[in-house]
Amino acid sequence: MNIVVLIKQVPGTTQVKINPDTGTLIRDGVEAVVNPFDEYAIEEALRIREKVGGTVKVVTMGPPQADSALRTAISMGADEGYLISDRAFAGSDTWATSYTLSKGIETLEEVDLIICGKQAIDGDTAQVGPGVAEMLNIPFVAWVRKVEEITDTSIRVERLMEEGYDVVEMPLPGLITVVKEINTPRMASLKGKMKAKKAVITTLNTTNMNTDPKRIGLEGSPTQVLRSFVPEKKSGGEIIQGDVSDLVSKVKSTIQSLGVIK
Ligand SMILES: Cc1cc2nc3c(=O)[nH]c(=O)nc-3n(C[C@H](O)[C@H](O)[C@H](O)COP(=O)(O)OP(=O)(O)OC[C@H]3O[C@@H](n4cnc5c(N)ncnc54)[C@H](O)[C@@H]3O)c2cc1C
Repeated sequence: MNIVVLIKQVPGTTQVKINPDTGTLIRDGVEAVVNPFDEYAIEEALRIREKVGGTVKVVTMGPPQADSALRTAISMGADEGYLISDRAFAGSDTWATSYTLSKGIETLEEVDLIICGKQAIDGDTAQVGPGVAEMLNIPFVAWVRKVEEITDTSIRVERLMEEGYDVVEMPLPGLITVVKEINTPRMASLKGKMKAKKAVITTLNTTNMNTDPKRIGLEGSPTQVLRSFVPEKKSGGEIIQGDVSDLVSKVKSTIQSLGVIK
């Protein structure tokens, strides 16, 4: 079974600051980690490999420093790491990211199963997994909480729903995105860390990937972020007391003073 896990490097904090002038993330001094949901994806791939044999390849798209996310996955037990990195990919939205990742996957030998996290904790869109499946024209199941059975040609999974779960069977090759209920990710072993240090990471870019220049980076991104900002913190409210007519007139005068109504 040839398994590919897509992992994203994200800031290790939810307190991300945004540069008010450029509207971009301030990444300096912020520790970068493997997206937590992707650790469940790596763990599940390793468990499937332990059960049925095969290889686990981890793929990330990001700047050169995303190399360390791949090494983290290798230290957990993944076999190979692939870094999709090129200046031409900068500014990609989820559509262009999905396209570029799908083109990276196409450079790998036969792939049976692709596993993604449910969502990235920074972008939070949960679009990339399904997007990659669409671009590769393969089926997918999102929000998988358990892999019940897997064979060379199919996979049966439990998909988390708001009330309960669905049991879904899908032919392979296919893609799943996983939720944290699926497993407990293992810690890296010392042997794994040594292996990760020495591992050769393959870099994929516009010279060795068959990408259409019109579908990558800013040009290939139909989404436009007009403004990014951190909402201002609001200070404590005011409790207004009195009878109903008093309250109504106080609320009305407050709204009028804010210029919302005349
Ligand atoms: C207009 C626009 C411009 C942008 N410009 C930039 C930019 O210049 N630089 C920048 O860093 N970001 C940029 N982004 C953000 C970038 O598009 C998203 O971070 C990226 O597409 C992933 O989306 P997400 O974080 O919502 O991931 P989700 O869809 O929530 O992730 C789901 C799963 O997909 C996989 N996945 C997601 N991203 C990757 C990845 N990169 N590599 C491997 N697997 C992945 C993981 O398994 C993850 O758990 C831009 C976004 C927009 C809308």
